[in-house]
Amino acid sequence: MSAVIEGAVRSSGQVALLARVPDQLYINGQWVNGTGEPIVVTDPATGRVLKTIQNASVADGARALDAAVEAADSWAVTPARIRAEILRRAFDLLQERRDDFATLMTLEMGKPIAEANGEVTYGGEFLRWFSEEAVRINGRYGANPEGTGTMVVNHRPVGPCYLITPWNFPLAMATRKIAPALAAGCTVVVKPAELTPLTTLLFVQLLTDAGVPAGVVNVITTTESQAVSAPIIADPRLRKLSFTGSTAVGRALIAQAAQNVLRTSMELGGNAPFVVFADADLGKAVNGAMLAKFRNTGQACTAANRFIVQASIAEEFGRRLTERVNALVQGPGIDPAVNFGPLVTETAVDNVDALVQDALTRGATLLTGGTRPDGPGSFYAPTVLTGVSSDSRLVREEIFGPVVAITTFETDEEAIQMANDTEYGLIGYVFTTDIARSHRMIDSIDTGMMGLNTGLVSNAAAPFGGVKQSGLGREGGLEGINEYLSTKYTLIPAS
Ligand code: NAD
Repeated sequence: MSAVIEGAVRSSGQVALLARVPDQLYINGQWVNGTGEPIVVTDPATGRVLKTIQNASVADGARALDAAVEAADSWAVTPARIRAEILRRAFDLLQERRDDFATLMTLEMGKPIAEANGEVTYGGEFLRWFSEEAVRINGRYGANPEGTGTMVVNHRPVGPCYLITPWNFPLAMATRKIAPALAAGCTVVVKPAELTPLTTLLFVQLLTDAGVPAGVVNVITTTESQAVSAPIIADPRLRKLSFTGSTAVGRALIAQAAQNVLRTSMELGGNAPFVVFADADLGKAVNGAMLAKFRNTGQACTAANRFIVQASIAEEFGRRLTERVNALVQGPGIDPAVNFGPLVTETAVDNVDALVQDALTRGATLLTGGTRPDGPGSFYAPTVLTGVSSDSRLVREEIFGPVVAITTFETDEEAIQMANDTEYGLIGYVFTTDIARSHRMIDSIDTGMMGLNTGLVSNAAAPFGGVKQSGLGREGGLEGINEYLSTKYTLIPAS
C-alpha cells in the first residue's frame, strides 16, 4: 500500500462550495436557526473543521413535524404527474451539480472522489426511478367470489414520515427514502447523521430549486438524536418511521414505534458471507472481494464481512487478494490518485483495531496491514487475515472497516452452515462457475440479497433490504414505493 500524505490543502473551489452549503435547519420552506449548541462538522481525512451548523432541539423537531403534518393533505392530492416532474427535475439538477455533491461527500465522509461520484449516480437514480413510479400507483377492481359486490382496492399515501439516515452514504441513503416518500404523496422530516449533515442540507436546497413546496421536506440536524426523535416518533400525527443505521439503534426505535403502532422500514446492519468455491473464476472472486470489502473503506452495510473460502484455494486467494490490497493508495479522498480513504472517526479506527487484535490473539495470521498510519486523519491500513477462528469478534460482529477475515470450508453443506451462522441476513456473495451449485446457494443462504460472481449489487430498480436482524421492508425497485403507501379496500354491493 502506498500513501498520499500531501494533497489535503483546500482549494478555492472547495472553500466556495462549503460557503454555499446551508448551515441552518429547513422547516416549512424556511431556513431557520436551531436552539441547541452549534454542530461542528469535520473532515475525517485531515481532522480540520469544514463548517459549523445549527443544532435542532426537541422544540425544533416538533416544529418540523408540524410543518410536515400541515403540508400532508395538499401534497397527497397533488397530481402524481406533478410529483413525478418535480422528482425528475431534482434528478436533472443533481446531474448538473454532480461535482458539488461528490466533493462535499468526500470532504465530510472521507470516501475517494471517484466513489463519491459513483454515489451521486446511484443516489440520483432513486430520483429518476421514483419519478417514473409516482404515476404507476395502481389499484385493483373485481367482483367478489360470492358475486354479491365489487371489490375496489386502492393505495393512499401513508402520511407524514420521519426519515433517519446514517453517515456512510450521505446522499444515497437520503434519496432512497425521500424519493419514494414524495412519489407516494407523503411529506417528510429528515434527520441526517450528525457526522455528515452537509450533503443533506445541500440536497434539500436542490429539492427546493426543483419545486418541492414548503413543508413537504423538512430537515433537522442535531447532536441530540434520541431526545429529538423520541417525541416525533411518539406523536400520533406521524404515520411512518424509516431508519437506516445500526441494528442496536433500529431495535430501540422499533420498540418506540410500537407504542404508536407506526409503519416502519428498517435497513440495519449486516455480516455478509463471501463464499468462494474452488471452481470459481479466481480473478473474478478477487475483483469482487476488492469491491465488496474495500469500497467506502469497508464502511458499508453490504460489505463482505466473512470470507469463507474452500480450503484447496484459500492460500492462492489470500495471496492474490493481498497483492491487490498492497497496491491500494491511501490518503485524503479528494486527491484523484487516492482509491482508499480514512475511516469516519478515530473511534471507528479504535473499533477496527480492537477486532484485528482480538483475531490475532486467537491465532489468526496477518498477511498485510493491521497498522494505524500516523495522522492527521483517521486512517487504518487495509488488512488481510487468514486462519481466523470462528469465535473471533471479526466473524461474529459487523466489522465496518477494511479488514478481510478468511476462514475455510471443505463441503457445500459446511459453507452454507457457516454463511448462515449469524443473526444478520442482509446480503451474501457466492463465487462459483457451477450452475446447480449457484442455485443451491441462492436458495440456502438466508439473506435478502445475493451477489452471484459479483461484489456489487445495489441498483435503484432492485429491492434493497435484509432478513433476520438486518431489517424490515425494502428500498428501491417496485417494492420501494409500497413502504409509503397504505392499502384501502372498499366493497360496493351489487344492489
Ligand atoms: P447509527 O445507528 O449509529 O446511526 C444511524 C442514524 O440514527 C444517525 O442519523 C444517528 O444520528 C441516528 N440515531 C442514533 N441513535 C438514535 C436514537 N436513539 N434515536 C434516533 N436516532 C438515532 O448507525 P451509523 O453508525 O450512522 O451507520 C452505520 C450502521 O448503519 C451500520 O450498522 C450499517 O450496517 C448500517 N447501514 C445499513 C444500511 C442498510 O441499508 N441496511 C445502509 C447503510 C448503513
